Amino acid sequence: MAENDGYTIIGAGPAGIASAVNLSKHGYNVTLLEAAPRLALKPCGWGIPLPGTLPFKIPEESILKHIDGASLYVDGKHALDYTGNNLGVIVDKRVMLEELAREYGLEVRYKSPVTPSKLKSLSRKENLVIATGVPWYKGETINAVQIHLKTSTSWGEMFEFYFDSDIIGYYWVFPLDRNTVKVGVGGFRDAKTLRLLLSKFIKKDSRIRGSTPISPLEGAKLAVGGIIPSEDILAVGEAIGSVFPLTGEGIRPSMIIGYEVGEALARGKDPVQAIKKSSVYWKVSLQRRILEGVKKLAPKSRADFLRSLNPEVIIRVGLGDFTKASLLRLALKSPGSLSKILKSFIHTS
Ligand SMILES: Cc1cc2nc3c(=O)[nH]c(=O)nc-3n(C[C@H](O)[C@H](O)[C@H](O)COP(=O)(O)OP(=O)(O)OC[C@H]3O[C@@H](n4cnc5c(N)ncnc54)[C@H](O)[C@@H]3O)c2cc1C
Repeated sequence: MAENDGYTIIGAGPAGIASAVNLSKHGYNVTLLEAAPRLALKPCGWGIPLPGTLPFKIPEESILKHIDGASLYVDGKHALDYTGNNLGVIVDKRVMLEELAREYGLEVRYKSPVTPSKLKSLSRKENLVIATGVPWYKGETINAVQIHLKTSTSWGEMFEFYFDSDIIGYYWVFPLDRNTVKVGVGGFRDAKTLRLLLSKFIKKDSRIRGSTPISPLEGAKLAVGGIIPSEDILAVGEAIGSVFPLTGEGIRPSMIIGYEVGEALARGKDPVQAIKKSSVYWKVSLQRRILEGVKKLAPKSRADFLRSLNPEVIIRVGLGDFTKASLLRLALKSPGSLSKILKSFIHTS
């Protein structure tokens, strides 16, 4: 490696930072060009399930809460409680990204947007990685909105999910600390409808009704169309759809893909092949296939389908916590339609 070898990464979100962390570990200089005046400005629930599956340790000072379980409701009815130590963490995403940047000596240039026309003119030769998130993504997106509230209720250590078969999406309640929660909804509706649905949801729940907003209601698009690697210009993270389509979880998959691309670049390997070989790639592809099946069902059948699933199948498939071998076992525990998708996926991938 020449002394002045280096990379420029456009976008300092989880994916860009993760690529930079690994390139920096390999001794490269990395500069991140970030459009925003600070990190993690984009709306996000800050929930990271299974943090142990990340290729590096989440900085301790960024962890707001350890999550030990999840509750799932389907169209207002309780469907399952799942407990598992260290199921996830809630992080202060800004602190997490800033700490990683500090620890690995990354240079982040704030207020440095790269214009769309400049982005289009860039080529892979220039040691560049695009990590600009969903605006770059070419696949299907949904809307998601959320609000951060201070409540008089004390919160435990559970993620709460309220699936709504009408919008093919869910409401989430994520406790950040003892008295604050992030409450949001994502699904196949326009942002205005989701805002109305979220305010109805909040009014129905006595634990959050009348709470004080800590930040205003905010929203963004979310990539749910699966990973579409870009062949002409190297991109990582949500920019290529590195998000689990069934859950909208994007921090962990974007960081894993970002890190793996950093590894491929550092070792002189083809980064697009690295993306296609990543376990995240095929797990996201499987979830996308299931989502396509679920979209074809009538709302009532969607709810019945979700209620008919074995809790372990929901958790493992939802969190991408499976291997090819364990998928076969999960297929045997699944109802006919899902079992068929899982088995055909095992054979074709
Ligand atoms: C409401 C909502 C809640 C969510 N909650 C969760 C959750 O709880 N857990 C989870 O895992 N995922 C969640 N997600 C998804 C998650 O936020 C994203 O998938 C993840 O942040 C993607 O990381 P990224 O680095 O690829 O992109 P981003 O986080 O979008 O980062 C891209 C960065 O690039 C910068 N940028 C953009 N354009 C340019 C440009 N032209 N020049 C320079 N810089 C640029 C942006 O300012 C940004 O900092 C949520 C999404 C939404 C919308």
